[in-house]
Amino acid sequence: MKKRKIMKILIILFIILCVYSNFFEVKEQIKKDNNINTNKINDSKNKKWNLLLVNNENPLPENYKVNTIELSNGEKVDARIYPELQKMFDDMRSNGIYPVVTSGYRTHQMQTKIMNDKINEYKRNGYSDVASKEMALKWVALPGTSEHELGLALDINNDGISSSASDVYNWLLNNSYKYGFIKRYPDDKVDITGINNEPWHYRYVGINEAKEMYENNLCLEEYLNK
Ligand SMILES: [Zn+2]
Repeated sequence: MKKRKIMKILIILFIILCVYSNFFEVKEQIKKDNNINTNKINDSKNKKWNLLLVNNENPLPENYKVNTIELSNGEKVDARIYPELQKMFDDMRSNGIYPVVTSGYRTHQMQTKIMNDKINEYKRNGYSDVASKEMALKWVALPGTSEHELGLALDINNDGISSSASDVYNWLLNNSYKYGFIKRYPDDKVDITGINNEPWHYRYVGINEAKEMYENNLCLEEYLNK
């Protein structure tokens, strides 16, 4: 009789264990499915040319082609963003603020040169090779991972005569979204973007998208993961 009782208890315990482990398996599966769904949303948004994510983890697609248009100072941008960029600059000037595009589209070779120059600058100041590279990466994107290579990002500064840098940066901070541009590397998103605050670096994402990001304080990475 005693033996049968023990057997019964063991069987019940075994059943409980089976149900319990199965429960966790199901939970894990739901978690996995959710992740897959998030990635799907990510991909469909990210496929739009204006939302293409390029950062240190997402390099430029292979053989990425840009149809550029040349600005009056020789800098180039993706031709698709030109009308809105022109309108933004016209409106800034009519507000008495005079911006200049100091860097637009860059080829892979240009980005490599900028990176090497930055590393050498630190080395000249006495930093080791490793430290110089590390510090340069905080300011310059690794060639192949710079938005400038997309033609959708530009550095906007003051003309050095009529406007100060803060005039230009403040105006852009409050108005650029109306033209489809976002401040790409804000101070409060350094943990996500991996790039220090750059008040001059603006990225075209489209008017509706920029408005949503501006109003909800989202950087591009956050917007694409939403
Ligand atoms: Zn830039």
